[in-house]
Amino acid sequence: MKSTIVHSDIQDIYLRLDALYSLDNWWQAESKLEVILGSILTQNTSWKNVEHSISNIKSAHAMNMNKLINMDTRSIRRLISPSGFYNQKTNTIKGILIAIKNKYGNIENMSKINTEELHEFLLNLKGIGNETADSILLYAFNKPVFVIDAYTKRIMSRIYGINQKIEYNDLQGIFVDSLQCNPKFYKQMHAYFVELAKNNCTKNNPKCNGCVLNSICNHANLQKNNYS
Ligand code: SF4
Repeated sequence: MKSTIVHSDIQDIYLRLDALYSLDNWWQAESKLEVILGSILTQNTSWKNVEHSISNIKSAHAMNMNKLINMDTRSIRRLISPSGFYNQKTNTIKGILIAIKNKYGNIENMSKINTEELHEFLLNLKGIGNETADSILLYAFNKPVFVIDAYTKRIMSRIYGINQKIEYNDLQGIFVDSLQCNPKFYKQMHAYFVELAKNNCTKNNPKCNGCVLNSICNHANLQKNNYS
């Protein structure tokens, strides 16, 4: 296990994955509101289910902050039901939109607020944890914040032997200042990890033979040693 992970390690991973994937504009949302809703709806469900819910909201002509605030909760629950946990998610959506309206007037005004203030504002809302807050900061407001999700934890734990129960902020700290603190690179890296987790670094039986990170991966090396 590598004792210290430095910026060049993260850059090496980025370059290897960048040579493999072409994933600009990975999250093709049409508005900041859509990103905010998607970040909440994706909690504990697949992206396919989120797309279904987003499509329902658009079909109902409800992709609008004020409409959602004024819509009765039963109607919102029905629209987002494909994403599961719809009682809780309806409350979170209502809560965040009302809080945004009260504090900033509208979503666009939030773009002018600095990252730290927005981060604190989001984390103080019920139902918004680190991953959801950071997804909103990065994808809705283009702030230089790296999102840590389950895929990132899995891949980093396999490459470096990091405990998957590592604290969110500790793992995120490894990425801070890497990739030039550039939101574009952070978005790409996040997208690359999602692709790698789906294609190679699967939950069970990872396909290490065809993985571009094989030569730097602790897990792959252990497997090679076991079979030699
Ligand atoms: S070599 Fe295997 S364990 Fe390591 S990142 Fe690639 S797929 Fe995952």
